[in-house]
Amino acid sequence: MKIIVPKNAGVCWGVERAIDMAEAVTHRHAEAKVCHPEARSAEGSSSALISSLGPLVHNPEVVEDFQKKGVQVISDLKEASGGTVIFRSHGVPVELYGLAKEKSLNVVDATCPFVKKSQNFARRLHKHGYVVIVVGDENHPEMKSVKSFIPGEKLITMNPKDIEKIEATKKVGIIAQTTIPKKTLDEMVDACQARFQEVKVHDTICDATKVRQEEAAEVAAQVECMIIIGGENSSNTKKLTHICKTLQPKSYQIEHEREIDFSWFEGIQTLGITAGASTPVPVIHRVKQYIEDVMTSA
Ligand code: SF4
Repeated sequence: MKIIVPKNAGVCWGVERAIDMAEAVTHRHAEAKVCHPEARSAEGSSSALISSLGPLVHNPEVVEDFQKKGVQVISDLKEASGGTVIFRSHGVPVELYGLAKEKSLNVVDATCPFVKKSQNFARRLHKHGYVVIVVGDENHPEMKSVKSFIPGEKLITMNPKDIEKIEATKKVGIIAQTTIPKKTLDEMVDACQARFQEVKVHDTICDATKVRQEEAAEVAAQVECMIIIGGENSSNTKKLTHICKTLQPKSYQIEHEREIDFSWFEGIQTLGITAGASTPVPVIHRVKQYIEDVMTSA
């Protein structure tokens, strides 16, 4: 059986950067314990703690691995009682920087630079008097972060009809959630240009998602079965699965190779494997190797 893996499958640059930053923190802490006895005695004290606000990536294996290295996942900054806190690639609400300072936490800010760019555009548009429209899912952590950088009138939505809530005489500035399809942004821009006199657009969509989706579609269209690796909670993985399923109904999303049912591969000659933006590349290789091993031993 021929297995095809798209060139850019798996972890995106921003998530890889966040993982590297978290790795560096755990190494520093581990080294401090070995080299400085006083740090060893601090183990168990608040200064030895490392936490991440929310899972570092939507990948249970990676999160578990970091837990073993001492990184605890917290859901609220109030839970952090000291030490180091990692802000993940999605970004955090702006007020948390102040709260972390008040609590004397050492912040490792792994917010993706592309998300930082959106935060800066949001802040600047507000400063220059624009009502800011952020095209995205208001429940997504990235949107909660970007929204917090706009102290004034704003609208977070993917539905162009919602712009009727803004007075037609206002000037609007548009930015986008980094992972939305370009078509969704374009529809919002068209609707705004028809309603408002002045519309300023910053296309903040990140290429990583687009490239992964295009490559997954290309592979799904030429294989007889498709495996998509990624966390159950990962929205970009779910989107990939949806795209693949429309082109190849035999598309299956898994978190781990143990979920593979080998009856999926009966009678097929070509298999595609892709992965969401939170799945490290070695995991893709491991799943591929596992399938090859089982198929050759069968
Ligand atoms: S998808 Fe793009 S914006 Fe989001 S973390 Fe990855 S590189 Fe950054």
